Amino acid sequence: MRVLVVEDEPDLLASLLQAVREDGYAADGAADGEEGLYKAESFEYDAVVLDIMLPGIAGWEVLRRLRKSKATPVLLLTARDTVRDRVRGLDGGADDYLVKPFDVEELLARLRALIRRSASQAQPTLRIGPVEIDTAARTVSLHGREVVLTAREYSLVEYLALHQGKVVTRTALYEHLFDENESSLSNLLDVHVSNIRKKLGHEFITTRRGHGYCVESTE
Ligand code: CA
Repeated sequence: MRVLVVEDEPDLLASLLQAVREDGYAADGAADGEEGLYKAESFEYDAVVLDIMLPGIAGWEVLRRLRKSKATPVLLLTARDTVRDRVRGLDGGADDYLVKPFDVEELLARLRALIRRSASQAQPTLRIGPVEIDTAARTVSLHGREVVLTAREYSLVEYLALHQGKVVTRTALYEHLFDENESSLSNLLDVHVSNIRKKLGHEFITTRRGHGYCVESTE
């Protein structure tokens, strides 16, 4: 999963990016509304964390313009909790709303919920045959026994499982699993897939030649 954080306070931006990355996401940052809008429109993010009070283009305007082309889930950050701001945010197409100062654990929990909802997955646990994925704890088990995955392997498994039954292209995986600073070596994805198959069974991920990868739905 790849998240964009738009926040003009440098310390807060850095700490949010760190927290989001430690939670296993690829994450890009933007320090003002213009850069935030450009990135949100240019890349396929799974969620955007958007501060309202930004220099240049304000968060409200970023949201309004983004909604003309994209339905990316947006979590608004605001310094004040007023009913008017909340209504304006939700009416403007925001998916959630958090008032500063907030606990970073709450931000991460809300992000996970937003990403699940956008994949039409209300339950935090996904089941694919003998494999169970707990998206809240970010753990995976096979036949009831926990399997240790690297952060990147987990992200790949979760992304495919959230899109189970659909073929996910390599391009989409690169866009959703790597941030802008990472080099995307073309064989890296195959290495991760190969390692996941060793841990969760070869049949867990199907290769669709020329198209991408698929986790078949078993429900
Ligand atoms: Ca701000």
